[in-house]
Amino acid sequence: MLTYQLTPVQELLHPILQEADIRLIIKREDLNHPFISGNKWWKLRYNLEEAKRTKQKTLLTFGGAFSNHIYATAAAAREAGFKSIGIIRGEEVLPLNPTLRFASECGMNLYFVSREEYRKKSETPFIEKLHNELGEFYLIPEGGSNALAVKGCVEFAQSISSLSFDYLCLAAGTGGTLAGIIAGTNQAKQIIGVSALKGNFLEAEVEKLLKEYEAANEVSIRNNHWKILHNYHHGGYAKVTRELMAFIAEMKSIYSLPLDPIYTGKVLWAILEEAKRGAFEKGSTILMIHSGGLQGASTYENLYT
Ligand SMILES: *Cc1c(COP(=O)(O)O)cnc(C)c1O
Repeated sequence: MLTYQLTPVQELLHPILQEADIRLIIKREDLNHPFISGNKWWKLRYNLEEAKRTKQKTLLTFGGAFSNHIYATAAAAREAGFKSIGIIRGEEVLPLNPTLRFASECGMNLYFVSREEYRKKSETPFIEKLHNELGEFYLIPEGGSNALAVKGCVEFAQSISSLSFDYLCLAAGTGGTLAGIIAGTNQAKQIIGVSALKGNFLEAEVEKLLKEYEAANEVSIRNNHWKILHNYHHGGYAKVTRELMAFIAEMKSIYSLPLDPIYTGKVLWAILEEAKRGAFEKGSTILMIHSGGLQGASTYENLYT
C-alpha cells in the first residue's frame, strides 16, 4: 500500500571501533521512503491495511509538536488515501513548526490539547469523547506502537536476516520497534536498545507489546537476548547537549552519515562509548539500525552555532 525503497548498508570506519577491533555496519533504513521514513514505515504498514480492511476512512493518532510519528502518519494517510487527524500535545504555536506544517499540508487536521488532557490519550472515556466530537476513525496509539506495528517490525527484522552480525543496536522510544526486532531476530544475536527517554519503564512496555503481539498472532516469543541501555538519553527525551550536536555534525561531515539528535545520534554515541569500555567482544560485528527521524533534525541544527 505504501511505496518502499530498498535501503543500503553503510560501514562506519571509526578509530574507536578499529581500536576495539569491532566492525560496525549501519542499515540505512532512513532512506526507505522520503516522508514515511525508517521504523515509522514498518510500524504503519499493517495499521493502514487494517484500517482499509475495516473500511475506515480516517486515521487518528497522537504526538508532540515535533513528532516523527505525526509527520509519517500524515504522509502515509495522504499516500494511501485516508483522511487524518493529529491530536497534538500542548498549545498551538503559530506559525506552525516545519513538522506540523508538513502534516497540515498533507491534509492532517490538527487538534491541540493541554498536556493534562493529552495524558488521557489511551483512556476509554477520552477516546469516546474524541469519537463523539470527530466521528469514526481508526486509532493508532502514540508513537504508533501496537501489535500490528510489532508485526511490521518483525517483518523488517526478517528482511535483514541475511546480514551477518553479532549485536544489533537500535533506538527505543515507545519500544514497539525493539519488540518487533526481538520477535523477528534469531536468538543467537544480542539486541541492544538505547532508550531515548529518562526512566526505567521501557522493559515493561516492550514485554507488554510482545505479549500483545503473541496473543494476536498465536505465537510464543522465547528470545531473551535483549537489553536496554538507560544512560545515553543526554538529559531526557529530546534533550541535547553541545557535545551531542558536535558529534552529529562530525558524523555528517566526516562519514557522510546523517543522524537525528533524538534517537539515532544517541544510539551511535552509545555504541562508541560501549566500544570504548570493552562492552563488545573483539572481532565482532555490530549492526546499527538507522531508524530515520531526520525530518526534525533541522530544528536543532542551529541551537549551538
Ligand atoms: C519513533 C522513532 C523511534 C522510536 O521507535 P519506538 O518504536 O517508539 O521505540 C526511534 N527512532 C526514530 C528515528 C524514530 O522516529
